Amino acid sequence: MPDCIFCKIANKEMPAEIIFEDEQVLVFKDVKPVAPVHLLLIPKKHYTSLLDLGEADAGLAGSLQATAVRIARDFGFAEQGFRVVCNCGRDGGQLVAHVHYHLLAGRALKWPPG
Ligand code: 5GP
Ligand code: ZN
Repeated sequence: MPDCIFCKIANKEMPAEIIFEDEQVLVFKDVKPVAPVHLLLIPKKHYTSLLDLGEADAGLAGSLQATAVRIARDFGFAEQGFRVVCNCGRDGGQLVAHVHYHLLAGRALKWPPG
């Protein structure tokens, strides 16, 4: 999608600190981290929000979740705990219109979020 910053990162047209990628999924560091570990997991293909990930994309959604768990184990914070968040739409606080999951860890995270 032209003008989508996460598509540009996925296509390597814009720099990011990439920590994992496979055919479908890219993981990179959030540019403004709010926790000691703050990663963004995106599908390489453009989906504007979670609303666009339908039944047909169940495999992709599963891959994103499995990737979060693999990273939690590889980085060594799986036992301590972590949070996976997907903000959707205006009231959900979604600022970037390319579906992404935040993976947060490294401190005790508050609940409920603001
Ligand atoms: P949202 O509010 O849409 O769920 O979160 C978007 C996230 O993307 C924010 O945490 C923000 O810091 C991050 N972000 C925005 N632009 C960039 C960028 O150009 N590079 C990286 N690595 N992260 C970005
Ligand atoms: Zn995009």
